[in-house]
Amino acid sequence: MIVIKGIAASPGIAIGKAYVVDDEDIVVERVEIGRERLRDEVRRFKAAQKATHRDLDAAEQKVLKVLGKQHAKLIDAHRLILKDTLITRDVPKRILDEGVNAEFALSESLEAVNRQFEKMDDEFFRERRHDLFDVGKRLLLHLMKRQKRNLAEIEQECVLISRNLLPSDTLGLKDTKILGFATDLGGKTSHTAILAQSLEIPAVVGLSDVSRRVKTGDTIILDGEQGMVIIAPGPETVAKYEKVQQRTMAEERQLEALRGLPTVTQDGRGFRLEANLDSPEELKSLQALQPDGIGLFRTEYLFLNRSDPPGEEEQAKAYAAVVKALDGREVVIRTADIGGDRLSMLGIEGPKNETNPFMGLRGVRLFLRHLDLFKVQLRAILRASTKGKVRVMIPMVSSVGEVVAARRLLEQAAAELAAEGVELKEDLELGIMIEIPAAAIQLDSFLPHVDFVSIGTNDLIQYVLAVDRINENVTHLYDPFHPAVVRLLEHVVRTAHAKGKWVGVCGEMTSDPRAVPLLVGMGVDAMSVSPRMFLRVKQTIRSLKHEAMKKLVIKAVVCSESDEIRRLLEQSA
Ligand code: PEP
Ligand code: MG
Repeated sequence: MIVIKGIAASPGIAIGKAYVVDDEDIVVERVEIGRERLRDEVRRFKAAQKATHRDLDAAEQKVLKVLGKQHAKLIDAHRLILKDTLITRDVPKRILDEGVNAEFALSESLEAVNRQFEKMDDEFFRERRHDLFDVGKRLLLHLMKRQKRNLAEIEQECVLISRNLLPSDTLGLKDTKILGFATDLGGKTSHTAILAQSLEIPAVVGLSDVSRRVKTGDTIILDGEQGMVIIAPGPETVAKYEKVQQRTMAEERQLEALRGLPTVTQDGRGFRLEANLDSPEELKSLQALQPDGIGLFRTEYLFLNRSDPPGEEEQAKAYAAVVKALDGREVVIRTADIGGDRLSMLGIEGPKNETNPFMGLRGVRLFLRHLDLFKVQLRAILRASTKGKVRVMIPMVSSVGEVVAARRLLEQAAAELAAEGVELKEDLELGIMIEIPAAAIQLDSFLPHVDFVSIGTNDLIQYVLAVDRINENVTHLYDPFHPAVVRLLEHVVRTAHAKGKWVGVCGEMTSDPRAVPLLVGMGVDAMSVSPRMFLRVKQTIRSLKHEAMKKLVIKAVVCSESDEIRRLLEQSA
């Protein structure tokens, strides 16, 4: 039995026989082309470009059908690559200058760009090279008149093992016999990982050499929660994982019964349980959970994978669709938190070459540098607010001046719209995310300027503990139960309540049933949970006694080690 650790890209467990697909490393030969035939060679390349455009049109239809509009932006990104001068100008130039075949000229150009990508520190941008290769491979297959591998033709259930899986391959996994996949390459923010999550296919990436260590037919356990692959597990291990799988399935069936029931503790304290929304396409499954509202609508996904920012009309439509679907329940729309690991391709000056992007031009900092973008989004949110119940929330706030500036811009936007004849309701409530320690420590100074706050534990933990939230080397130090984190959370809730202000929590800590008792004990006003964990968290809250959790928090805030806090939680369970 061999255990290989990689990066957990998409949750779930898959157990089955391995199906190793070779990387289809296409061997490209260098062929000298006589001068008189060089123009024909360029024409042949242009025909392949056209055929690839047609491929992308077909792929777009498929994405629209399977995943919806949001993911179709990936195809736009591929179109942009295909139109890039690297393809349209450099390859023909190389054919003519070097007198070589189109396949060779293309692979040389791709290799040159790959070398540039490899030098990039930023993981998000490094990962984008897979998109480049995806397009490059389509072109090569057309030039060589070869067919792209069709994973839908695999007839037996299997766990797919591959050196790499391109985003377009991943897209083809929907409704196939593939139970999950593991790859040598890839990172958590790659499109492949994002697509796997949306398709609910367990995946582990970044496993270095899994494709060489596994043979087709080997038994494999793929653990998408732990980011682990077990090759040739013994019968006991298989039995253990099968049990976990069955337990998860049985639990999920039980949880179904909780839909629509109130989120109330054993001793009668009700909590608002909301859901986080990452893109409008997830709306349908989210609605089925019947949340009390959306506590965090991460709008930045509208800004990624495209070269022009979304306009006011497009944004207003996207937000209004969500607001209408919630039918009177509240939607907290967060202005785009671009930056950090979510770099856009918008060509915005600033965040691209940062050595420490999580500390860089991100969230409100970026928008205050680009007031035009900020204003357009605020106008779109205001317009959507006429369709239902909306609040606006500003991410990555570290100084009062930022809130004052954001509020001023919101007021300006509202006045403009009113002058244009748009009938707005009463003032839109404006809140901030508490995710930078400065805002948490100095909360009393912020409170007069805001209508509500929502704690973003994902960032708050990384900044309190100086632990990069996506750095595998320090994952073990990323600890929601660290006494400094627990004390700061309690301080925020107490300080906000003392001034009568509403406090929500929307980071992943709300989705961790082990941590939820602390939030219940602190008496937060709302928890916004990732949809995948929504019913499980509801179940946890319904099993707790609020009074007992209040006492637990009193003990937790004087603990000096996270293990003590964990023990308190275990004892109370
Ligand atoms: C957070 O930081 O906890 C949060 C909810 O924001 P995001 O994860 O989008 O940074
Ligand atoms: Mg955050």
